[in-house]
Amino acid sequence: MKHYKIALLPGDGIGPEIMAEAVKVFKLVEQRNDVTFELIEADFGAAAYFKCGHPFPEETKTVCDEADAIIKGPIGLNHEQSKTIPVDMQPERGALLPLRRRYNTFANFRPVFLPKALGHFSPLKSEIIGEGIDLIMVRELVGGLYFGEKEVGVNAQGLRYVKETLEYDEGQIRRILHEALQLSMRRKKVLHNIHKSNVLKSSVLWNEILEELAPEYPEVEIKHILVDAAATLLCLNPGQFDVMVMENMFGDILSDQGGGILGSLGLMPSACKGPEKSYYEPSHGSAPDIAGQNIANPYSMIGSVAMMLENSFGMEQEAKNVWAAMQSVFAEGYSTADLSNAESGAKMINTDEFGDRVVAALKAMPT
Ligand code: NAD
Repeated sequence: MKHYKIALLPGDGIGPEIMAEAVKVFKLVEQRNDVTFELIEADFGAAAYFKCGHPFPEETKTVCDEADAIIKGPIGLNHEQSKTIPVDMQPERGALLPLRRRYNTFANFRPVFLPKALGHFSPLKSEIIGEGIDLIMVRELVGGLYFGEKEVGVNAQGLRYVKETLEYDEGQIRRILHEALQLSMRRKKVLHNIHKSNVLKSSVLWNEILEELAPEYPEVEIKHILVDAAATLLCLNPGQFDVMVMENMFGDILSDQGGGILGSLGLMPSACKGPEKSYYEPSHGSAPDIAGQNIANPYSMIGSVAMMLENSFGMEQEAKNVWAAMQSVFAEGYSTADLSNAESGAKMINTDEFGDRVVAALKAMPT
């Protein structure tokens, strides 16, 4: 019997609601497999700041340090509420980036997946969706502008100024490109390199290193696309993409567009891989506009559980079963409010009913 410790960080806004559905899946996976999960809940994000005075309290760090893997709900407040927290204590700066830095989770995998049969969820025309959308974005997660030095001050002319640094060394670039190339080898052997080398020197170095690595992966066809063009092509022809690799900020923005072409950010799970520890989280935020109403889509949170099962615990088949269980709920005509409305003919279900239906479908599957 395998035993894993999992740090559970429900977070803010819709975080606790969708995490409750993820917990149902953990519990069922335990029952169906030779495994036990010790789920240890800890405070993280704005809720932690208001309760303990810090968005990433020491107790939470200890829980995460001792865990085999971490599952995290979204954190953050709406624009106005954010201002009630000192800038450096705000959830992303005070908790999310320190979490990523602490475990050096440099590789972020964000699948953008919608089978043809669910094409009606997407705002794209059916002829653009074709056989469905199935790509994965690989985002560098601990470098670039988000982690560079920052300076704020008043300049010689008396004007307030800010300076933020975009910095990468070749080691950081090499390791994320290796991840993307290896993933391409396991998929269609096509890698789209997303960059901005016509403007940014960081992209010039990025591309140089990719050229150096390419001979190690002779079977992978590498295609270069400027990030701005990639944004357009994601809408016009998403079927051309399989694996896309990019630096931190490009990945932040483009992956939300990934959610957009699916029809909702609620369909965007992710895995954040570090050398020793990985954490898993939906790509989206805490959705303060719908928090507390039991209408959030828990797919991204449950999908993050599936990614943990596969990547941290080697439970590939059970991970596939979880994905299939979620797809089966949609295939039966059920939908959460972000994807359809009642006029569309969809049978509308709430957050907890989606979780219950996933659990029922998973129960019916062989292990
Ligand atoms: P958001 O992703 O929270 O929401 C954008 C839109 O998508 C909203 O209309 C929301 O209702 C909808 N949405 C998101 N997830 C959904 C789900 N599971 N089901 C149904 N609808 C969903 O982005 P935002 O409003 O710009 O940010 C809110 C807060 O989240 C901010 O404080 C932001 O900084 C934070 N944030 C956190 C993370 C993270 O924890 N990793 C990521 C992004 C944003």
